[in-house]
Amino acid sequence: MNVTNSYIRNTLQECYSMQEAANLSRIICCEILGQSTIDYYLGKDIILSPKEAKELESILIRLCNFEPIQYVQGIAYFLGRKFQVAPGVLIPRPETEELVEIILKEISANARILDIGTGSGCISVSLSKELPEAQVTAWDISEEALAVSRRNNEILQASVNFVLCDVLTYQPAFQERYDVIVSNPPYVLEAEKQEMERNVLDWEPSLALFVPDADPLRFYRRIAELGLVMLESCGKLYFEINRVFGEATVAMLLELGYSSAHIQKDISGNDRFVIARR
Ligand code: GLN
Repeated sequence: MNVTNSYIRNTLQECYSMQEAANLSRIICCEILGQSTIDYYLGKDIILSPKEAKELESILIRLCNFEPIQYVQGIAYFLGRKFQVAPGVLIPRPETEELVEIILKEISANARILDIGTGSGCISVSLSKELPEAQVTAWDISEEALAVSRRNNEILQASVNFVLCDVLTYQPAFQERYDVIVSNPPYVLEAEKQEMERNVLDWEPSLALFVPDADPLRFYRRIAELGLVMLESCGKLYFEINRVFGEATVAMLLELGYSSAHIQKDISGNDRFVIARR
């Protein structure tokens, strides 16, 4: 093992498991310091310039503060594309990749799509890239998030229309119609905080994560109400959900008058998506 690699691992092992420290070290050496994967696995040394040595120190300090590596690098991968991320947006999760894959199997190429709470833009930009004829609109309540998602739209050459919008107070325009509404809104309960990792709790935006314990379906109910006005007849809603609230979400949708609603599991076998038809 080279000197740099073992230095990185030893430093990180003060706050991470051996496995995590090794993984982070590979990312630092290969993706940040530019070492080739072959040289890394051959254990070749990296000669660091004074500037690189300083950069490495600052990376290690950030990681030892439990800052997610995606924020340190400023990027996260989503369905094979490289998205810019910053502490004002949630880091895209693999479950959300599954959600986009489900949607892509089911909708028409020229659908009018609305993504509510777009964050980094991973859902809306991916849909726009995969379905170039679709008209994709994306809302977020956070200017900071919209700056990131607009940048992803530009870098990845997608054509999403971004709008600063608070879904809880939004009044739909008369002629506004969509075929599909998708949302991965905040769904973690305050009560679930104690089970969460520091790298999520200390760094990711609370605004994108938490709902009050007393009103876990707040965003789903509001989006479903808007859907009754803004979805075409037979238009569809796609939600990513807290695995605990699948049945409650389905019941709420049927009660509001959706013609069908069902739960779909994620790859780990948890109730993770709810799909409804107007
Ligand atoms: N899946 C995310 C997490 O577990 C939460 C995403 C959300 O609240 N929409 O941290």
